[in-house]
Amino acid sequence: MCRHLAYLGPPVPLSALLLDPPHALAHQAWAPRDMRGGGTINADGFGVGWFPLGADEPIRYRSAMPIWSDAALPALAAATTSGAVLAAVRSATVGMPVVETAAAPFLDDRWLISHNGVVRGFPGSFAGLASEVPVEELLTLEAPTDSAAVSVYIGHWLRAGKPADEVLTTLLTEVRKAAPGSRLNLLLTDGDRILATTAGHALSVRATGDAVLVASEPLDDHPAWRPVPDNHLLIATPTDVTLGEV
Ligand code: GLN
Repeated sequence: MCRHLAYLGPPVPLSALLLDPPHALAHQAWAPRDMRGGGTINADGFGVGWFPLGADEPIRYRSAMPIWSDAALPALAAATTSGAVLAAVRSATVGMPVVETAAAPFLDDRWLISHNGVVRGFPGSFAGLASEVPVEELLTLEAPTDSAAVSVYIGHWLRAGKPADEVLTTLLTEVRKAAPGSRLNLLLTDGDRILATTAGHALSVRATGDAVLVASEPLDDHPAWRPVPDNHLLIATPTDVTLGEV
């Protein structure tokens, strides 16, 4: 069920997150260790978003192919350096299309957004929430999937000036009401902070003083990795991590 990660800290090559560590994101794509809620491999596309050094806007590279079959990626990832990265590999929920635009990260202004999980009863269960978002914004949906829809709601509320932590807690409350049994591990970064929720799937965090890495599964055996308990909201900067129940 999808694996995702976000990194903030001193600039690193993308390959240090996607490809090089023993359980890098590409390894988690075909040999995940903690696939709660079904799925075996994450072969339905991948995406990486990063803030180039000194830039305010992120760049994305996404594909509908499995991450391990993209022949251009190793050289691109080794040559691209960033201090703010969000990446994901996808295992499409049954019935949802396998297309490049359904692969996270989704993008809204400077926010990179990923969702690991499922909204039960989608799209019908979204009807109540839909009234909160103007139709012209709903029509910007990148793909007809639950995750793309969730990111439109997140983007709408962020642009309306709602603090990012409130956006996530509100979304969890509303979706839990409208679509019980949903799984909502969300992961966001604007290049300054990482916000992440655990609601049905695995997540771990590695804070090492000047860098923070949040990932569905630890990338290596570094002793600083800690599991994030279920039903929590994590807010992290490179130097600070806070956790609260949601
Ligand atoms: N439901 C989402 C999709 O199909 C995310 C899937 C997942 O977390 N495996 O894209």
